Amino acid sequence: MGDFSLDLNEDQRQVINWVHEFADSVVRPAAHEWDEREETPWPILEEAAKVGLYSLDFVASCFADSTGQLLPAVNEELFWGDAGIGLSILGSTLGLAGIVANGTPAQVGEWGPQCFGAPGELKLAAFCVSEPDAGSDVSQLKTGAVYDEASDSWRLNGTKTWITNGGIADVHVVVASVDHTLGSRGQASFVVPPKTVGLEMGRKFEKMGIRASHTAEVVLNDVKVPGSCLLGGKDKLDERLARARQGKPAKTQAAMATFETTRPAVAAQAVGIARAAYEYALAYAKDRSTFGKPIIEHQAIAFKLADMATRIDAARLLYQRAAWMGASGRPFRAGEGSMSKLFAGETAVWVTEQAIQILGGYGYVRDYPVERWHRDSKIYTIFEGTSEIQRLIVARAISAVHIA
Ligand SMILES: Cc1cc2nc3c(=O)[nH]c(=O)nc-3n(C[C@H](O)[C@H](O)[C@H](O)COP(=O)(O)OP(=O)(O)OC[C@H]3O[C@@H](n4cnc5c(N)ncnc54)[C@H](O)[C@@H]3O)c2cc1C
Repeated sequence: MGDFSLDLNEDQRQVINWVHEFADSVVRPAAHEWDEREETPWPILEEAAKVGLYSLDFVASCFADSTGQLLPAVNEELFWGDAGIGLSILGSTLGLAGIVANGTPAQVGEWGPQCFGAPGELKLAAFCVSEPDAGSDVSQLKTGAVYDEASDSWRLNGTKTWITNGGIADVHVVVASVDHTLGSRGQASFVVPPKTVGLEMGRKFEKMGIRASHTAEVVLNDVKVPGSCLLGGKDKLDERLARARQGKPAKTQAAMATFETTRPAVAAQAVGIARAAYEYALAYAKDRSTFGKPIIEHQAIAFKLADMATRIDAARLLYQRAAWMGASGRPFRAGEGSMSKLFAGETAVWVTEQAIQILGGYGYVRDYPVERWHRDSKIYTIFEGTSEIQRLIVARAISAVHIA
């Protein structure tokens, strides 16, 4: 693995340009409509599938990029188009990441294609960790999984909440506790196959932003899955539980393993939203005049734009570094993945708010996209670990002190 470089090779450039073109011509024009409709934009997903953007092959090629830069760069471009639609297109990737992080190669081969389907028969995946009483503190998951040796099957019971694609997904990856006394170390991930009896959608949430992405509760009522649906297999789980019971340190944790691989990509999504708002505000500031000159000639506005550009570039550099560290197997000694998510999320909220200010009253109404970008940005200080939790991870990493 090479040194850190910002140079993209020709293949990467082509893919990024292709995604940008799709975001510009298909996603951005549909953004307002699907934000208002507040439902999964199936026709846009179909278009994405037709061109190969919504597909296992495409996601796999991004993950396979040895520099680590392609996946976040693609996320930035797509979410520059629209975050709600972007999340609908890439939401299944979170379920896939849960399978890849914990599954055997055979399980990845079996379930990976079912997370996406094919044009005309699209499938969705969901990654179900959060619960009503366990969001940041995933050690408190109440959803339980009980093994029945006679039938080599598991029974899952519990309620998951805030789940992207929850209840409408074909493949649900569910993190459940097999031994509550062990906290996070007693948890395992399961695939719940399509149409499994007992898995139902609970309440669908009406949200502030990313409204084209479906978010709902998932209720698991005596859901029976075969032993083969335990990701990683029973032997590995038993070995992991034994280590925990003997007080030996953990190798990985089911949910945490997934989040580590996805954080720089999530940071890049926030950068995409921020960039959209910045570009729009820059163009607007050159066009709008007050007191006889374009508002960009007022230093107060020009300096805002300078700060927006600077923070966006800093956020991008942080996610690029974290992605490179992940791809090159460098340990995150200072919580660099969390730093990238933390800074990008807060940058997106700040930049989009500045953009509203630059547009004045026009920034505050739905005729312009800027207020939507601000609403969309806020989720990036909340999901995939809140800003406080990212700070906790960084603080612990840099201090070696257990800060709670
Ligand atoms: C739109 C949307 C989509 C989502 N998609 C998914 C999904 O697909 N799958 C999934 O599993 N989950 C998903 N989530 C859940 C999301 O990850 C959680 O909402 C998030 O982790 C926060 O958990 P919580 O809401 O329970 O807040 P809490 O954990 O209750 O936190 C409340 C507040 O306390 C703070 N806090 C908590 N603990 C500490 C601490 N130790 N120190 C300092 N401050 C602390 C938090 O930062 C926050 O400000 C989604 C959420 C939303 C809103």
